[in-house]
Amino acid sequence: MTVLKIKALKGFKDILPDEVTLWKYVEDTARDVFRRFNFSEIRLPILEQTELFARSIGEDTDIVEKEMYTFVDKQVTMRPEATASLIRAYIEHGLYIQKPVQRLFTIGPMFRHERPQKGRLRQFHQMDIEILGSENPLVDTELIAMGAMLFTELGISVDLELNSLGCPKCRPSYRARLLAFIESRLDALCEDCKRRSVTNPLRVLDCKKSYCREQVEEAPSILEHLCPDCDVHFSHVQEGLQQLGVEYSLNKFMVRGLDYYCRTTFEFVTSDLGAQSAVCAGGRYDGLIEKLGGPKGGPGIGFAMGLERMVLLLQLRENAAFTRSDLELFVIGLGEKGEQLSYGLVHEMRGQKCRVAMDHEGRSLKSQMKQANKAGAKYVLIVGDDEIEKGTGVLKDMETQQQQEVELTCSALLEVVKKH
Ligand code: ATP
Ligand code: MG
Repeated sequence: MTVLKIKALKGFKDILPDEVTLWKYVEDTARDVFRRFNFSEIRLPILEQTELFARSIGEDTDIVEKEMYTFVDKQVTMRPEATASLIRAYIEHGLYIQKPVQRLFTIGPMFRHERPQKGRLRQFHQMDIEILGSENPLVDTELIAMGAMLFTELGISVDLELNSLGCPKCRPSYRARLLAFIESRLDALCEDCKRRSVTNPLRVLDCKKSYCREQVEEAPSILEHLCPDCDVHFSHVQEGLQQLGVEYSLNKFMVRGLDYYCRTTFEFVTSDLGAQSAVCAGGRYDGLIEKLGGPKGGPGIGFAMGLERMVLLLQLRENAAFTRSDLELFVIGLGEKGEQLSYGLVHEMRGQKCRVAMDHEGRSLKSQMKQANKAGAKYVLIVGDDEIEKGTGVLKDMETQQQQEVELTCSALLEVVKKH
């Protein structure tokens, strides 16, 4: 009888142990950088009320229109991004009362029903970083500079693109100008853009189709239509980036696909992942906190980094640092007595914080040496009948190939193994 194999869902991917080493390298480096910038971690649920995303991300966005995993009968949705949940928690627990400016980050899976391809999955992972409660442009700069620092420390090369989307004061008049421009070229645009021109004309600038891009090449730039407040804010953001030595370029077409953005928006992009060019994207969303029932006018800014894309970029680089094994000792117990003594010794060493492995299948010395090598163990200890009689085992340094006799006790072994 043939048994039908059950496979993972399309766009849902297992992250195998070899890859996890890379993932951990990215996450550990990120946590370290975030800590240096005084951010605290928050952990949030994966399922939220559908209304939370509809109200924050906006009804007329790709995410809400067609990408959400929603249990229609329960009116709950698997989170497609983390900002909305994080702000919901910030409001629900009155975090703004405890501390007026909150610096928070969260790492975890997000869900969007998109066409899977390289760097685009249906369950993917983001590191999401937010500063809530400040509209100071220094905060924008600091946050963007932190993103740049993380990419530098990971050795990932990306370009920073920057734009400002203005505010409810200056956007309506810009929108009207843009709409007039778009209407003059409507016939040449794709069906999506024709529809967007009515619902959200700014998103026409964001269309990926080359013929639409050509049409909007000459579109008026929002940067020339900012109100004095937004203009000064954006100048300060740029001056800050210059002061901190963060390179950037302006991209007047970057409008971001979510409704809640205003003022500063930015993306870290790469040309190494085809159409999946954005590795990290974010911006300011003053007003969203109030829209979700929080303090009036509560400002905020944040970004989300795509972990899959960061890992893919790291895989393009050769670097042994994150593929190195951390196994300290491999114990080879030969014969019944050797195995028995090793079994207890291994447990004791593990209790002393040593990373130890042993084989339980009674394989030959040669085959176990091969295993130890493959596992990248720093040391190998051989315990056979002769060794037990003498009370000392042969400890081999796998890097230098030097051998020495070591007393078969946990403390004697630790002294050598932990010396590194
Ligand atoms: P894209 O234009 O590539 O669809 P986006 O604008 O939808 O990206 P955001 O919602 O801003 O992306 O999410 C921030 C980051 O999360 C992206 O820059 C990307 O690195 C990552 N990301 C978004 N969607 C996916 C996905 N389906 N699979 C993998 N990573 C993703
Ligand atoms: Mg998308």
